[in-house]
Amino acid sequence: MATERTLSIIKPDGVKKNVIGPIITKFEENGLHVVAARMEKLSRHQAEGFYAVHKERPFFGELVDFMTSAPVLLMVLEGPDAIKKNRELMGATDPAEAADGTIRKLYASSKGENTVHGSDAPETAAFEIGWFFPQADVTSRG
Ligand code: ADP
Ligand code: MG
Repeated sequence: MATERTLSIIKPDGVKKNVIGPIITKFEENGLHVVAARMEKLSRHQAEGFYAVHKERPFFGELVDFMTSAPVLLMVLEGPDAIKKNRELMGATDPAEAADGTIRKLYASSKGENTVHGSDAPETAAFEIGWFFPQADVTSRG
């Protein structure tokens, strides 16, 4: 398995529910390392650019409103097969369809307010990491 990096976001609902700790623990227990992190309240520009791929979708305005409503925790995760592994740990977009034990099953309240984001492919991971962590070297774990 190749070592990969992926972008993870603990969304406003996850931060407000005070579950940053258990979410990061789940990443760490599954071989993913936090190699960069920053807590920030996103501007509309940041959220719109990040989700540009969804700009024609009917929920785009609602999504940007939500993502800018309170601080989020932006992270780069690194580990074997990190992109797929993170998506597995997150669970399905709609928490009603998410498997038992996944982050969204445990903490998410709706399809919109679903606690975490994770990149879905190497190309999107590269774009998303660059969007929020533009410095050439994300912290290395030596
Ligand atoms: P995922 O986050 O699982 O990759 P998508 O890329 O399809 O899901 O959608 C991006 C985000 O947009 C979702 O995580 C969710 O916050 C929001 N979203 C997706 N579908 C809907 C919907 N039908 N209604 C409201 N918000 C949605
Ligand atoms: Mg997606």
